[in-house]
Amino acid sequence: MIICDTHCDVLYTRVFHPEETPVVTLENMKKGGISLQTCTLFSGSGGIEKHPYEAGMKEYHEFERLVAEYGWVQAWSPAEAVEGEPKAMLSMEGGEILEGSTARVDEFFEYGVRMIALTWNRENEIGHPAKSGSEEGIKPAGWDILRRMAELHIAADTSHLNEAGFWDLIRRHPQPPMASHSCVRTLCDHFRNLRDDQIRAMIENGGWIGINFYPCFLSNDGKADAKRICDHIDYICQMGGEKHVGFGSDFDGIEVTPVDVKTPAEVPNILAELRRRGYSETALQDIAGLNFIRYYQRLGWN
Ligand SMILES: [Zn+2]
Repeated sequence: MIICDTHCDVLYTRVFHPEETPVVTLENMKKGGISLQTCTLFSGSGGIEKHPYEAGMKEYHEFERLVAEYGWVQAWSPAEAVEGEPKAMLSMEGGEILEGSTARVDEFFEYGVRMIALTWNRENEIGHPAKSGSEEGIKPAGWDILRRMAELHIAADTSHLNEAGFWDLIRRHPQPPMASHSCVRTLCDHFRNLRDDQIRAMIENGGWIGINFYPCFLSNDGKADAKRICDHIDYICQMGGEKHVGFGSDFDGIEVTPVDVKTPAEVPNILAELRRRGYSETALQDIAGLNFIRYYQRLGWN
């Protein structure tokens, strides 16, 4: 089975918190049968004035080192995912790394970045984060960047983006948007989670949602396990999203994890729970990875 995970912060942790031991390792990915691990270049929490491009480049150089010296294999698109061999694909979290430049979109595309979360929790040149409560949509400079992203078939990731920006994308962006690491707001009332109308719009527009494993996004009491992750998957499936949902763990970006899904090695616990709930093997394969690969086919990656 091909398992894809669409968000983790291992590169940021390795560069900026070397005292911490990352859980996203080649060994854990192999144990968990992960085929495609998306690793993000995170802007850092400092916003536009704290040299986000430099932070992103440090993380990119760390990725190059993992590939050159530690046996990691880069995937240049989700279509390269195969069973039995973990590969890592690059993404970006916090469009401020681009510092408002469309040329930088091309630069990071060359490095292999295939997904850009337009904002993190800070306002940037592209738009406003959900955290801000802003009702303003995508900025003019943001549309220039989005246009170039669409030409290069880079996914527009709406995790962290505010609702006005989200609906702007649904209305005006030519490609289906995705949320690489977000959960269901009806099940856990957090600003980072998606409302039902947003989930519906994702499904209707051919988008994709990766369920985040962060307990604070999964349960109002901040406690979670594999069953709770499956509650969020169930919810989206019951809305008709069985072909539009998967995993966006956020490993190495979250200080607590579900009790029985602490590392990539334990991702199969989620699949076991889905199996217990009566999901067919076809549905399991879709949710585990094929939905994500097909989402990229809709973006133009074959
Ligand atoms: Zn995030």
